[in-house]
Amino acid sequence: MSFCDMNVSIVVPLFNEEESLEKLYEWIVRVMQANNLTYEIIFVNDGSTDRSWDVIRRLSAAHDEVHGICFRRNYGKSAALHCGFRAVKGDVVITMDADLQDSPEEIPELYRMITQDGYDLVSGWKQKRYDNKLTKNLPSKLFNATARRVTGIQLHDMNCGLKAYRQDVVKNIEVFSEMHRYIPYLAKNAGFTKIGEKVVQHRKREFGVSKFGINRFVNGYLDLMTLWFLNKFGKQPMHFFGLIGSLMFMVGMVAVCVVAGMKLYALNHGIRAMLIADNPWFHISILMMVLGCMLFLAGFLAELIIRNSTTRNDYLIKEQV
Ligand code: UDP
Ligand code: MG
Repeated sequence: MSFCDMNVSIVVPLFNEEESLEKLYEWIVRVMQANNLTYEIIFVNDGSTDRSWDVIRRLSAAHDEVHGICFRRNYGKSAALHCGFRAVKGDVVITMDADLQDSPEEIPELYRMITQDGYDLVSGWKQKRYDNKLTKNLPSKLFNATARRVTGIQLHDMNCGLKAYRQDVVKNIEVFSEMHRYIPYLAKNAGFTKIGEKVVQHRKREFGVSKFGINRFVNGYLDLMTLWFLNKFGKQPMHFFGLIGSLMFMVGMVAVCVVAGMKLYALNHGIRAMLIADNPWFHISILMMVLGCMLFLAGFLAELIIRNSTTRNDYLIKEQV
């Protein structure tokens, strides 16, 4: 499966991690040399305001296998991974955090799982986690349970920073916004379905602070919904909006007819009945009809937007003979 003579590309996104970088570099080199793997390290400096970039420049000047990309400002981990993925040349791509919480010792086995066991993607699983229990470990369990249900991918730790990919995978998916939490789902939707998991060691943060607050879980859920929707209806939004819109419109119309029918019946038989405009069911039914129309129109607009999208006919071709 060799595309070139480089075995591993290691992508390290970082934001204000100056104290860890040198240690991380040395640790990676030790592991790679002990395992006879050829490698490159791509540090992506996501707009750090400390001396991280100075350290990277120094490392890169002294060692050919170290490369660096420096953003002008902080764009987020997804952006950093995206640019790292565009630059990689190795057969297997490893992503890991810069804060020394992920151990480079895992790389050889991850490499073996991709090259020999034929996995497209292997995600780390921090079975024993050294983070705050209340703000991270518990919400993360809940988050992963939801993600497993929605995505159908049986991973315990979808958002683990330590992952390994076949080069093909990272070149064919697009990570943006905050979608780095769902890379396995992006890969699955792109047709890379052999996704595995490996229990990895996790360590306490030695330096600096975590860059993500509790709002990661709120944003994470919203992003999961977005991805689910895009995967299911992204190419045919009318199938979603049209169905719900039509159903709402029809239920509203039947309800209006029932309300009007009951009023007419009452009038014909001399029964006292309230004014139609005083009947709450009348208003609810009309509201449903209006909302139904609006959803239907939203479907049309979404279809018009897709007609103009330049990626509407982008397909990933696996092989051609
Ligand atoms: N990171 C980044 N850009 C950001 C936030 C974080 O590149 O805007 C990097 C960060 O430097 C680290 C990795 O992403 O290398 C994971 O971040 P962190 O350790 O803060 O996350 P946690 O371990 O708390 O989940
Ligand atoms: Mg961390």
